[in-house]
Amino acid sequence: MKTIHFFGECMMELKATSRDTMSKSFAGDVYNSAVYLKRCFADIDTSVVTTVGQDSISNDMLARCDEEHINTQFVFRHPSKTLGVYLIETDDQGERSFVYWRSDSAARQTMQFISDEVIDALQTNDMFFFSGIPLAIMSDAHRAAFWAFLEKIKQRGLTIVFDPNYRSALWENKAHAIAEFEQALSVADIALPGIEDFETLYDFRSSDDVVTFCKSKGVKDVIVKNGPASVVTSIDDVVITHPITPVTNVVDTTSAGDAFNGAFLGARLSDYSVRDAVNFAADAAATVIQFPGAIAPKDAFMRTLRQ
Ligand code: ADP
Repeated sequence: MKTIHFFGECMMELKATSRDTMSKSFAGDVYNSAVYLKRCFADIDTSVVTTVGQDSISNDMLARCDEEHINTQFVFRHPSKTLGVYLIETDDQGERSFVYWRSDSAARQTMQFISDEVIDALQTNDMFFFSGIPLAIMSDAHRAAFWAFLEKIKQRGLTIVFDPNYRSALWENKAHAIAEFEQALSVADIALPGIEDFETLYDFRSSDDVVTFCKSKGVKDVIVKNGPASVVTSIDDVVITHPITPVTNVVDTTSAGDAFNGAFLGARLSDYSVRDAVNFAADAAATVIQFPGAIAPKDAFMRTLRQ
């Protein structure tokens, strides 16, 4: 069985359903990717590597992982901290904004649980995915430990995958994000950036520039997402531009890139060609944006994807 591990943070999502009530769910970039990968490719062992608390909300999140058949072998339980939380607010014009309480979340502490036993439990042909969000939220000491950990597992043969997912609010300044992302690119075998990240950080305007830059830092394969515009891949040094059919009834683009990442990696692990994998991932992402929130209801998602 092929195995992929998604390293990062899953938060509790709160959304107002009336003036006085809210609905609760769980989301976070790597968790979203894991959910969509597993829904599309049931035979791939899909694990999240994160930390939760010992409280009932953390238990709920683990129960949700079970419902989605996500492996929680590497979900650690912090003795005193718990999940980060975010609230989605929608104004009178329908514009959404987010309020976060994540500065002391359990997921910031994951590196303290990464022991030699954990490293030994990762298999040589596993894939290991991380994004710029867990990088941003860990302490400097944990980040140093994370780079050493990545080097070790890369040497053991794991394939390292990185999506910068730049969130300016989580970084002290751009220079810090750039330094850490360049370190990430030097370890990653595969990068799945959105072009926006590189526009903001480097003022790059084209996917080709992003491909050239990532490859110059040592990444072997690059997949550049650009909303409804074409996806550009450079895999085994073959560059292909894949047109995307824009969705006309976009409801909420949250987690489009995450769904794309999960579906693309699942498809490649299932031996799809590059073109077929991009088409499949684009269909999955196009489906997700027709539903509100990061995680579309499972049955409706599967039904719409198959149409
Ligand atoms: P991110 O969430 O990382 O910013 P993008 O916005 O670039 O990601 O979108 C990721 C993928 O989602 C795109 O490559 C595309 O396949 C799909 N997608 C995004 N917006 C649209 C759209 N309006 N119509 C069709 N597909 C879209």
